[in-house]
Amino acid sequence: MIIQPKQRNIAYRCPECASSIFGIVGKFALSADMLRLKCSCDKGSALDINKTNDGKIRLSVPCLFCKQNHSYVVSESVFFDRDKFLLNCPYTGMDIAFIGDEQTVNSELARTEEEIRRLMAGFEAEDISELQPEDMNEDEILPDPAVYDTLRFLVKDLEAEGKLECLCNEGSYELRFCDGGVQVYCERCGATYTFGATTPALAEEYLNIDYLKLK
Ligand SMILES: [Zn+2]
Ligand SMILES: [Zn+2]
Ligand SMILES: [Zn+2]
Repeated sequence: MIIQPKQRNIAYRCPECASSIFGIVGKFALSADMLRLKCSCDKGSALDINKTNDGKIRLSVPCLFCKQNHSYVVSESVFFDRDKFLLNCPYTGMDIAFIGDEQTVNSELARTEEEIRRLMAGFEAEDISELQPEDMNEDEILPDPAVYDTLRFLVKDLEAEGKLECLCNEGSYELRFCDGGVQVYCERCGATYTFGATTPALAEEYLNIDYLKLK
């Protein structure tokens, strides 16, 4: 008998004080309200989770690296049924939210702690704030996050249905902004596919594809 997990542990790092914030998301609690995970520091960053009208899950996650929230939409099955689900910053590629059972979330936090330490060492930074932007205006500097959001949803959906293939077929897939659009890549074999989408309307045109092969 398969027992469906009805709740998930989730964690993120507060961009203001760098501490890890933990929460538990229950399937039923989520259908009623917006859930908010909040850091208890002065600045009080918050991760918000709510259900969209069409039954998907929307997350707004504080980013340790950009000092702003990124938004993601995932299907309920991906959120609750995956052993491990990570949300990454579209600008730096670093993982910023960790979803899974308690053990998975803790081991991902430990893994990324190490990654952050290496990143800081690379920049000779003593504090994470040295890597964060001073004052960033998303509209001026960054590509439209709605483009990323749409394509991320598509990729995670194709992946969940086994309709996304790469050279190794054993990888996990992430997305990043690139010149002229958004690129999906396999973390294991490095195969890629580039969506030539720079506006939400162009991104939506990809939503009707039902198979994708990364090369
Ligand atoms: Zn904080
Ligand atoms: Zn970010
Ligand atoms: Zn691969």
